[in-house]
Amino acid sequence: QDEDFLVEPLRYNRIKRETLDSMWQAISANKQPFLSFLDRKAALMGKDKLAWYDVDAPVSLGSFQSKTFSFDEAVDYIIEHFASFGPKLADFSLDAVKNRWIEAENRSGKRPGGYCEDYPESKESRIFMTFTGSASDMSTLAHELGHAFHSHVMRDLPDLNTRYAMNVAETASTFAETIISAATVREASNDEEKISLLNTKLENATAMFLNIHARYLFEKSFYTERMNGFVTAERLSGMMEAAQKEAYQGALSDYHPLFWASKLHFFIDDVPFYNFPYTFGFLFSLGIYAQSLQQTENFEETYISLLRDTGSMATEELVMKHLGADITQPDFWNQGLEIMAGDVEEFLRLTEKYI
Ligand SMILES: [Zn+2]
Repeated sequence: QDEDFLVEPLRYNRIKRETLDSMWQAISANKQPFLSFLDRKAALMGKDKLAWYDVDAPVSLGSFQSKTFSFDEAVDYIIEHFASFGPKLADFSLDAVKNRWIEAENRSGKRPGGYCEDYPESKESRIFMTFTGSASDMSTLAHELGHAFHSHVMRDLPDLNTRYAMNVAETASTFAETIISAATVREASNDEEKISLLNTKLENATAMFLNIHARYLFEKSFYTERMNGFVTAERLSGMMEAAQKEAYQGALSDYHPLFWASKLHFFIDDVPFYNFPYTFGFLFSLGIYAQSLQQTENFEETYISLLRDTGSMATEELVMKHLGADITQPDFWNQGLEIMAGDVEEFLRLTEKYI
């Protein structure tokens, strides 16, 4: 009863309380690899522990030069690797490029990042992004094509059945991005390049498993305390630092007590708990990716059927129907955590000689 404030976000994300709890339990029980990643990164920087502001520092070792791609090269690379997953994703993406649905020019005054918009009446999507030639821009392009594909496979459904919640909105995009980031790491031309790419992937994973866990713990403390009255700025900072220390299990030397003031995600007042759906979506998509590695035959059809039901089913039923998995139990979540833990292992092995 005292956690009634979770009713609204759970309903909005179409999940049960047990599902959210099992996700955080799986993460909490499997934090060690990500703490080891932070420790190794600290050692590479000649520090005992990383500070909050060091966590996302790049790792450039030896004679590392980041690889760049022309737009056409990036498109070829994406289509080739999408095709190794399934012909429909690859064909759709090629059509999107040929039909000039992507505005990617890098020109002055245009901000970085990417965005995909769906146009239900014309049954088309458009991608607006700035492509500068980096591996991360190639991932962004794959990500936005994933969003467009999600809309594409739902084209013939009634409009009301195409409205999916935030926790599954990033399923197709993260999935597409994962195909490409796994390929760039696998095909890196030397160890230094591989280390840099793994660092980018693991920064994202630590944000999902540690940073956003801190946000969730903070939000719960805040809502609990707010029931008894006004919460002062000093208290907010105290609660934030405590949540960060718990989530990072003391792995950092300095935390960010004022994070509640600087992060816009705490100020979206019409969507409470606007943070855990990111972690949910990331690990949800990785769980599907893990299944795709096991069931390679015809998995694309399973994947498409699942995407088509994202707008009309509760998440527990969706996963049970298409993947036969129970997301109220930690097993499903552990598969995704294991994939990322494998990346940590490789990062630790490759960076050994630099400390
Ligand atoms: Zn997205």
